[in-house]
Amino acid sequence: MESHGQADLREGLGNNGAPEAGTWHPRARRVPSPNQDARPAGMRPSLLVIHGISLPPGEFGGPWIDALFTNRLDPTAHPYFREIAHLRVSAHLLIDRRGHLTQYVPFERRAWHAGRSRFGAHEGCNDFSIGIELEGTDEVPYTDEQYGCLAEVTRWLMARYPDIVPERIVGHSDIAPGRKTDPGPAFDWVRYRALLENGT
Ligand SMILES: [Zn+2]
Repeated sequence: MESHGQADLREGLGNNGAPEAGTWHPRARRVPSPNQDARPAGMRPSLLVIHGISLPPGEFGGPWIDALFTNRLDPTAHPYFREIAHLRVSAHLLIDRRGHLTQYVPFERRAWHAGRSRFGAHEGCNDFSIGIELEGTDEVPYTDEQYGCLAEVTRWLMARYPDIVPERIVGHSDIAPGRKTDPGPAFDWVRYRALLENGT
């Protein structure tokens, strides 16, 4: 339960009023994904993983990310979709190019975003992480709206999951090197970390 007012977070409250169990960001559009399961017993989120995604690659604004994360991607809609439509993947959050937030998995649950991965000595980062997808590519600058939303959401998560500290915010490429490159050189870590420190 939210015990403190979120007066600035009224916009876009849960889209259908369904009482999904677990914690959802109050400003996120909810698109529950079947690609989730329980975290290992007693495990709380202690790592934040930043990703980049676009479907088809390099194109923005379509319905395809929702479709992929809900196992409804039409493999005939684009040649690339044939390669990925069978995947069972998700993330907790997506921030689109306009800075709008969608949530697929409640934060207590395990989303399937990191794949084979390692942070320090710990493998299988999905067990203990929250995954945030930014709609984008490795090479195209992310938008001002995305940085603003990401910083706000990060602070919101850090307040609720205090094991997520600045040193435990990483890119997918950091925990799956050689296999993943996102969010790519286009993601400005200095800007993001400054936003986290400075408030707005
Ligand atoms: Zn990724």
